[in-house]
Amino acid sequence: MRAVVVGGGLAGITAALDLAGSGCQVALLERSGQLGGLCRSVPDPVAGRVDTGQHVYLGCCTELEALLDRLGVEPALRQDRLELTVVDPGHPRPRRLSAAPLPAPFHLLPVVSRWPNLPRGALLHVAQVASALREGPGGLDALPALGWLRGLGQPERLISQLWEPFLVAACNAPLDRCSAELAAFVVREGLLSSSRAGALRVPGTDLTRWLDLPARRALERAGVELRLDSRVASVGSGPGSRVRVTRGAGEDETFDLAVLALPARPAHRLLLAGGRSTPALEAAAGIPDSPIVNVHLFTDRPFLPGAVTLIPRSPLQWAFDRSRLDDQLRDGSWHAAISISAAGEEVRAPEARLSAEIWQLCQASFPPAARARLIHSRVTREAHATFWPHPGSAALRPGPGDAFPGVALAGSWTRTGWPATMESAVRSGRAAAAHLLA
Ligand SMILES: Cc1cc2nc3c(=O)[nH]c(=O)nc-3n(C[C@H](O)[C@H](O)[C@H](O)COP(=O)(O)OP(=O)(O)OC[C@H]3O[C@@H](n4cnc5c(N)ncnc54)[C@H](O)[C@@H]3O)c2cc1C
Repeated sequence: MRAVVVGGGLAGITAALDLAGSGCQVALLERSGQLGGLCRSVPDPVAGRVDTGQHVYLGCCTELEALLDRLGVEPALRQDRLELTVVDPGHPRPRRLSAAPLPAPFHLLPVVSRWPNLPRGALLHVAQVASALREGPGGLDALPALGWLRGLGQPERLISQLWEPFLVAACNAPLDRCSAELAAFVVREGLLSSSRAGALRVPGTDLTRWLDLPARRALERAGVELRLDSRVASVGSGPGSRVRVTRGAGEDETFDLAVLALPARPAHRLLLAGGRSTPALEAAAGIPDSPIVNVHLFTDRPFLPGAVTLIPRSPLQWAFDRSRLDDQLRDGSWHAAISISAAGEEVRAPEARLSAEIWQLCQASFPPAARARLIHSRVTREAHATFWPHPGSAALRPGPGDAFPGVALAGSWTRTGWPATMESAVRSGRAAAAHLLA
């Protein structure tokens, strides 16, 4: 069987490896000159390269870990259980929190009991959520996450201090406009299932170096023909039951099988250009995108209290001490990455103004920052970072077989049950290959 995979992000890389592993002759066509898709870094005149967005994954991301093992890639940080520093803007003394090596959900006892500024009875309220999730409520897609948490009796302060920072980062949507089904999934899988599930893993910077070359080597070893700088213009039915793929320059080629490992809108456009798309793909292409903005600050000394710091109720959200994580200094400067999920005004704000505002907030939140000198800053914005998981969006995510015979859909936005993450992308690639092989 000759198979083509269109798109060289994590979904495409995974699908190509699985198809090749099952004996298909595979070509992977990627529009850009590198692999990794949204997991990428860009050149920076001062810092060398910066990631377009800080990436994090959790111990529960088992399929991603299996792929990374296959590529021979290690994260810079690999915890055994959740450990992080929390800085509450009202209580500037940082708290270092660690989950306990206890069976779930008791592993979270020390985290919740030491979390700053939680209302009384927080442990009981968290237990309430755990028990609701054990009953496997399901059918929550139409409900906003905020309404679901309030319905479970969660006090407002517990929601804004504890649930919101985790859920907004994982789902990339504010709680009042996020599907409760996805939020419940994140809480269940990432926080409550085991002490290992919530353990943080942080890739080494930069993401292109981290993924591109290892993925090329793994694909080469698997016998996949890699064609970079190959933009596909249309995918349609060919002679017999074959799939016709037209490249940008107008060259046609036919394959027995195809995986479209692209975001929903380009996938829909390629099928329309090839003659027909499907209602399922058209509906998915209508889901809006949600942006992520990162502000990279290079200073003359470290100022963050931990490798990974969470700042509830602050525009800073999550802060990463890249120099500590990578164990390296760049030209003597320290690198902090501030990751802003579900970004609003930050997407359009002029770079100099946004950097200045974020640096001021850092100086107000972290005492050592007041003595530090900002040497360089850089803002990276990804307007199409993920799909917007609004209430009702789970029902709009298509499965791998929702294109037409011989063509499978993949991508972190497809129906994996996961938020649009690296784990979702890998799972979708596996599901697409399995669908075609079945
Ligand atoms: C700023 C930011 C921060 C993020 N943070 C996290 C995080 O902390 N943790 C996490 O798990 N996930 C995170 N994500 C999400 C994660 O990066 C994505 O969900 C995942 O990488 C998507 O992989 P994919 O293969 O589905 O799609 P993509 O990575 O979008 O890959 C699609 C590929 O298709 C190619 N392509 C497009 N059109 C064509 C065409 N016509 N012909 C050929 N090729 C084409 C593109 O060039 C691209 O390489 C983040 C994303 C961003 C942007």
